[in-house]
Amino acid sequence: MFSSVLIANRGEIACRVVRTAKRLGLRTIAVYSDADANALHVRLADEAHYIGPAPARESYLVAERLIAVGRKAGAECVHPGYGFLAENAEFAEAVAAAGMTFVGPPPAAIRAMGLKDAAKALMEKAGVPVVPGYHGELQDPRFLKEKAYEIGYPVLIKPVAGGGGKGMRRVDRHADFEEALQGAMREAAAAFGDSRVLIEKYISAPRHVEIQIFADAHGHCIHLNERDCSLQRRHQKVIEEAPAPGMTPAVRGAMGAAAVAAARAVGYVGAGTVEFIAAGAEGLQPDAFWFLEMNTRLQVEHPVTEAVTGIDLVEWQFRIAAGERLPLAQDEVPLVGHAVEARLYAEDPTRGFVPSTGRLVALEFPRGEGLRVDSGVEAGMTVTPYYDPMIAKIVAHGADRTQALDRLAEALERTLIAGPRSNAAFLAALARAPAFRAGDFDTGFIDRHLADLAPAADEPDRAAAAAAVAALVADEQRRLAREAAARGEPAGSPWLATDGFALAGSSAMVLPVLVDGERRIARVAFRADGPVASLDGVVAAEDVRLVVADGVVYALRRGRQTVVQIDESGLDHDHGGGDGVIRAPMHGKLLALLVDKNAAVDKGHRLAVIEAMKMEHTLVAPFSGVVVEISATAGQQVAEGAVLMVLAPTV
Ligand code: ADP
Ligand code: ADP
Ligand code: MG
Repeated sequence: MFSSVLIANRGEIACRVVRTAKRLGLRTIAVYSDADANALHVRLADEAHYIGPAPARESYLVAERLIAVGRKAGAECVHPGYGFLAENAEFAEAVAAAGMTFVGPPPAAIRAMGLKDAAKALMEKAGVPVVPGYHGELQDPRFLKEKAYEIGYPVLIKPVAGGGGKGMRRVDRHADFEEALQGAMREAAAAFGDSRVLIEKYISAPRHVEIQIFADAHGHCIHLNERDCSLQRRHQKVIEEAPAPGMTPAVRGAMGAAAVAAARAVGYVGAGTVEFIAAGAEGLQPDAFWFLEMNTRLQVEHPVTEAVTGIDLVEWQFRIAAGERLPLAQDEVPLVGHAVEARLYAEDPTRGFVPSTGRLVALEFPRGEGLRVDSGVEAGMTVTPYYDPMIAKIVAHGADRTQALDRLAEALERTLIAGPRSNAAFLAALARAPAFRAGDFDTGFIDRHLADLAPAADEPDRAAAAAAVAALVADEQRRLAREAAARGEPAGSPWLATDGFALAGSSAMVLPVLVDGERRIARVAFRADGPVASLDGVVAAEDVRLVVADGVVYALRRGRQTVVQIDESGLDHDHGGGDGVIRAPMHGKLLALLVDKNAAVDKGHRLAVIEAMKMEHTLVAPFSGVVVEISATAGQQVAEGAVLMVLAPTV
């Protein structure tokens, strides 16, 4: 076994590899970019080395830097994780040339499976069923259109260099072919630097079923059962499980044998996944599945296989790379219970799944029987736009599928994320969807049910917002009481007396707030038993979890986040203390400067707009005066407390 490893990756997979490597007694060597200086994988590893700026192209994808770090730190082997350089044959070769062992397959095997057209041709020869279609060299649009007609619609156009579902186009009608082809080629050229495509029959009611294989360097190759990854959005996996619903020993035997044949055909060593598409309408059949591609690396969803087999796949990767033999024969591979994984992302399903970056103000994962959470972040860390915005993989294992799905749904509902939006509620809704639970699904399931799974948030969650307003009021009352105490005064009446919030008398007030960035008017009634907040007549709900940070309240209810803060632009609020120095009240982007130097402004005049947490925050003049200095520029990122301008009072 090795005594040290360079982990050429980041995020959850780097953390995952560190865990097993440490258990095996390896010294763990991490790398990080500017964006990851405080990342979890850096903290978990024994040592970490800087490799460059945040963009992956300038750090995690620069093979020479990684190899230089490996050499300097004396790494014996290099684990590439998934993504980045994991399927890069030149990198694998360079690692070996530098005297280290690549924890992955031989470069020739990576190359053989690297392009889908060549891989399919090879698989046909090896007797592995491939999806009917055209995967030859000719790329003339008219010729390809002819081929599509011969194959019969619907067809799928796929980049030969593809990955991550990019550039694929389904075509249903001959008349639509040219336009789809142009689009696919354009996207392929942009994403992979290679515009070539292949054409496949689009399998109807498709199920994505893949086989985990393992081969050692002594001629043994086995499979570790299947994973069903049919729940997809834009051809990307969302939920994965094992075993596949409806799987039979006959189908598993046939798929397993095909996967092992595929691996043997390219002289495979190590962990790999052979992906198949199956025609799902009649249930899984031994003669109705076809090779899609082989991923020559550890897969994102490998924990599902670990849960049902009890095998640590990363440990096996290290042992095989060190020359050990496979420890099990095919008929000794366990398959216990059912496991399901959900990919938890910082994205907003109610707005077309746009990535939602920013600071994780709070992050709590549930614990419980059968649960495993693989994450690369912690509360306080930031989800940056530079990398995949995955927050965690939530994996649930149970005695059967129902128990596993129940555990998963419950775990997702108990996951607390404040700051970025997440797909937790969407995933929980999927795990609870009756048709999916009945096993009645294919890769089109999410698209067909999207309106139910991710309803557009056209209405604010008023009951959650009201709870947040109550928290803001309580927060402010405590602050005022503290200040009064510091001055040696009695606490007195609440904040009403001290500033301009009280617009509707002393027993109630209206409070301008921003709810998810929208201006709203909340109402707070002061009753004998405390303040009661409401929004549009809706009072606070009981089932809201509140996270308060820097004057912003994150109200979390049923997997949905509602962000509430006082609308400063609606208040005559003093941002500058008494001294006329106007400071940024929070980290954010200075969207606009609304005054010029030497401008005369009245008290309450709008001075600047800051955007933080996707919300605009307007700063107003604390008194009438003249702008004597401007210290920031519009468009700039500003830190909390940064001086924006200075106002001198008019005398
Ligand atoms: P990638 O390299 O992007 O992962 P794949 O070839 O693995 O590309 O396909 C990704 C997904 O697209 C599959 O999981 C499946 O859902 C869908 N898909 C691919 N080929 C077909 C096909 N011939 N018929 C139906 N769906 C397909
Ligand atoms: P898998 O087949 O392993 O589930 P997918 O085909 O769904 O993986 O796509 C995952 C791909 O997305 C990875 O191969 C990688 O290219 C990219 N990716 C996802 N997450 C990350 C990450 N944290 N770092 C780098 N690449 C990532
Ligand atoms: Mg694939």
